[in-house]
Amino acid sequence: MENTLNIALDCAKAQNASKIHRLKMRVGDLSGVVPDALEFAFDVVTRGTIAEGAEFEIERVPVICHCPTCDRDFEPMDWFYECPHCHQLTPHIQSGQEIELTSLEVS
Ligand SMILES: [Zn+2]
Repeated sequence: MENTLNIALDCAKAQNASKIHRLKMRVGDLSGVVPDALEFAFDVVTRGTIAEGAEFEIERVPVICHCPTCDRDFEPMDWFYECPHCHQLTPHIQSGQEIELTSLEVS
């Protein structure tokens, strides 16, 4: 969890920021990061840092798979990535694994 927030802090430091006002992250459902837990951790981890009191927004990214047979993307209903059209399992995960910082407002 801290690693996730360090991505943001490192990014702010790289810009010579003295204060982070707002940050937004995209968190995939497959990333293993629980948004509620991340929000809670944010308050704790940022205490005493340049991100203290910043507005924190998390955008959840659903799991999207790609079926090469049908050449279609689909959102799996389960943890089995079965194409709803041809019912084949696919190992191609398009999104849902990301943990990325999408916006950062600093000064
Ligand atoms: Zn298919």
